[in-house]
Amino acid sequence: MNLQPKTSFSGWRHDSGPCELAMCTRSAWCSDLRKQTDFRSQRAYGRRSCGSQRVFGWRNAFSAAIASWLCERDLAPAVLLIAILAISAFSHAQSGSSISYEISLTSPEEHLLNVQITLPPGLSQRELQLPVWNALYQIRDFAQYINWIRAKDRSGKPLSVHEINSSRWQIEGAENGALIEYEIYADLPSPFGAQLNQHHAFFNFAEILMYPVEARSAPTRVTFTHVPAGWQIATPLASLPDKVWSAENYDRLVDSPIEIGDFRESDFDESGGHFRVIVDADPADYDTQKLTGDLRKIVAAAISWMNDRPFETYMFIYHFPRGPAGGGMEHAYSTAIDLDAELLKMNPGAIATVTAHEFFHLWNVKRIRPQTLEPVDYTKENYTRALWFSEGVTSTVENTIELRAGLVDEKQFLYHLGDSIDELERRPAHLTQSAEGSSIDAWLEGDPYYRRPDRSVSYYNKGELLGIMLDLAVRQATNDHASLREVFQWMNANFAKQKRYFHDSEGVRQAAEAVSHADFAAFFTKYVAGTEEIPWDDFFRYVGLHVEQVQSRVADPGFVASRNFDGPMTVASVTPGSDAERAGLHVGDTILELQGKTAGLESRQDLARLHPGDALTVKVRSRRGSDREISWNVGSRQEIFYQVKDLDSVTPEQRAHRAAWLKGEAESQSEAASPTK
Ligand SMILES: [Zn+2]
Repeated sequence: MNLQPKTSFSGWRHDSGPCELAMCTRSAWCSDLRKQTDFRSQRAYGRRSCGSQRVFGWRNAFSAAIASWLCERDLAPAVLLIAILAISAFSHAQSGSSISYEISLTSPEEHLLNVQITLPPGLSQRELQLPVWNALYQIRDFAQYINWIRAKDRSGKPLSVHEINSSRWQIEGAENGALIEYEIYADLPSPFGAQLNQHHAFFNFAEILMYPVEARSAPTRVTFTHVPAGWQIATPLASLPDKVWSAENYDRLVDSPIEIGDFRESDFDESGGHFRVIVDADPADYDTQKLTGDLRKIVAAAISWMNDRPFETYMFIYHFPRGPAGGGMEHAYSTAIDLDAELLKMNPGAIATVTAHEFFHLWNVKRIRPQTLEPVDYTKENYTRALWFSEGVTSTVENTIELRAGLVDEKQFLYHLGDSIDELERRPAHLTQSAEGSSIDAWLEGDPYYRRPDRSVSYYNKGELLGIMLDLAVRQATNDHASLREVFQWMNANFAKQKRYFHDSEGVRQAAEAVSHADFAAFFTKYVAGTEEIPWDDFFRYVGLHVEQVQSRVADPGFVASRNFDGPMTVASVTPGSDAERAGLHVGDTILELQGKTAGLESRQDLARLHPGDALTVKVRSRRGSDREISWNVGSRQEIFYQVKDLDSVTPEQRAHRAAWLKGEAESQSEAASPTK
């Protein structure tokens, strides 16, 4: 799902979801290392009830019954004609059985939308549901933004609207169809949001559009009114004449983001697919040629790695606002990505990293999909143990795609790997929370306490590392005749292409065992379902590497803060006895400013530049809402850093294994590819 650019130390750390603002800084050691390694300064970062089918079935039965009745009575052709006309008229009415949404952008300045839903004739009593979650695996209760709701029948007579719970409404008297109208506030920026303002509109439709509970599988149509002059519309939805967009059902509709505004579009064809690139940003803040050039490399690398292209057209939607932003959201035929324009200047590679991740999601999670996410339950948490794979291993493959695309080299890749091991090892919770546990608990990520290093690990972080280990283990078990690539191609062939879902970790194990003919029970028991320490060197030895631990004295501001995706930074813990505690910093404080600058993604880098003894000034808002500015001197502590290095002596076999690993291929590609066919 969501990838969040995350600063780490003096660089960007790849990651993900709620990210910890690791207040440990690599200080001088780190900046030296940065110079030496020239590392990429950016590692950023449904289903169906069936009203319409029921009606359709009844209609056919109705037609058949009339035809049968007519045949039995041998009636005159004129009567037959009348009957056929009657059937035809009824059919026509039913062809309008789609759910129509009209979205009026009436008040951009007030972020207010007026939504009208036209329901076709059907049941007298209908229920309408607004999802409680979408995009993020977090309950966000979008119904909080609904100002009012009303309904009427086709003649304009008001219908009774009864609120069943905070996100569901019941309409009475809708047998001849109904028009439901409501006003909703939309000002959640980011690819996880829905926003209308004077600059543009961007919607994840699930956050603003209700669905009729009995007809979630019905076709949908969307139109817009009061679109400001000069604004265009871009969406992966099917386009019909007269500015109508359609989707086969609600699930597809809400998997299709939409950008409405004065954006720029560039298109390209690659590997047999057509790609549309929509950018909403100041043209001075990005380079279209460089962007499309990198996108070509990424999509070509991913399509060749999967040996599959399950789409004709794919859309990238980018926002590069000047200010806090960051993250990406995957969809089956598109992705939406937001990155801070200022940060892009420092870290132009961030676009490629997030894009490679979100693009690979078109397979992993959108098509190679865990059963536990199906059908989507928009009314409550959709618990799954598979996010370590669906998100974390997507991050593993994102690195492979970048390596194959030539956007990252071995040194950068290994540096990043060390960073990822750092991140896991530094969180005491890696001994108490498994990768599966982190997946199940994803729904708690909005809570700062949950994000504490001693409470949780990230399924992105541990999943990414598990993807690396799984790849190495499959290679070792097959003497490089198979790899993670064959695992994915097997899952694609045996689940996605068969319209089947996989059974969480068990499905991944099934695939690993199918391509390797080896037993992976211990791997999954210890490292996926369990919390055993991963014996890094046992895995890395196969490719001539090992993990070194380096001790270093680092600046320690005395607190840990974290963000929930693109939310504000909240203090998760304050070191007892630290100057930060004496200065009056409290758990739960929101950091508004750091060293005089508005707090944002770059705050991590600002902290990384601090040295022991430096003065630190932060402006914070307490839980009760009072603001204050406090200062103290940064302390220090010993910290262990993990680096992935060559073994003292690397054999030619290990070198050959490493070369294949970095390519993301099995050494004997032709043989290894056979199980996927
Ligand atoms: Zn993701």
